Amino acid sequence: MHIKTAKYIISSPSYDLCPEVSVPEFAFIGRSNVGKSSLINYLTDNGSLAKVSKVPGKTKLINHFLINNEWFLVDLPGYGYAKTSKENRAKWGAFIEDYILQRENLSNLFVLVDGRIPPQTIDIEFIAWLKQNKIPMTIIITKTDKVSKNELDKFKTLYVRTLKASRITDIEMMASTSIKKQGKDEILDLIENMM
Ligand code: GDP
Repeated sequence: MHIKTAKYIISSPSYDLCPEVSVPEFAFIGRSNVGKSSLINYLTDNGSLAKVSKVPGKTKLINHFLINNEWFLVDLPGYGYAKTSKENRAKWGAFIEDYILQRENLSNLFVLVDGRIPPQTIDIEFIAWLKQNKIPMTIIITKTDKVSKNELDKFKTLYVRTLKASRITDIEMMASTSIKKQGKDEILDLIENMM
């Protein structure tokens, strides 16, 4: 797929304020600072569609973008940043959980993990929760420009092993780097195949 147009639609502070269900939707989520905004900008060939944040954990909105007039790309708030308060984390949970569990046109959720950081409990628990709820998902490994091919292979093996220890199997993983611009075709092809 080639992205011809990417249009900002709305930022919603709660699930019930999201735009009307009209087209298939593909959402991106991950811990703050994982490189989500950079990936969205790289995928859409737009330097500023998603704001690359200098303050991790700041965005608490569900951002909808209309792509090629045929699908929504959704930027979900980053989770689990240590500096957000417990109260904020609880709020994050309820608001995003509603979206993930109830959004009927959500075709796939891309969970971003940093290729330099070993599996984190918060990510594994989140993925386990998605699996329990049968949410279609794919892991995208980010910032792979920072690791060698060998390190990336080891990262993937460790991730698969860690997920397996939590009885999570059959997870698809893709690698990406917004800096070196790699991984876009695989991600967009997957989206096209799921539409
Ligand atoms: P977000 O909080 O998940 O939206 O992450 P951002 O896109 O704002 O990026 C967080 C930080 O990681 C910024 O300093 C980016 O420049 C950096 N970053 C994002 N993507 C990449 C990447 O592919 N490679 C490298 N080396 N750094 C990246």
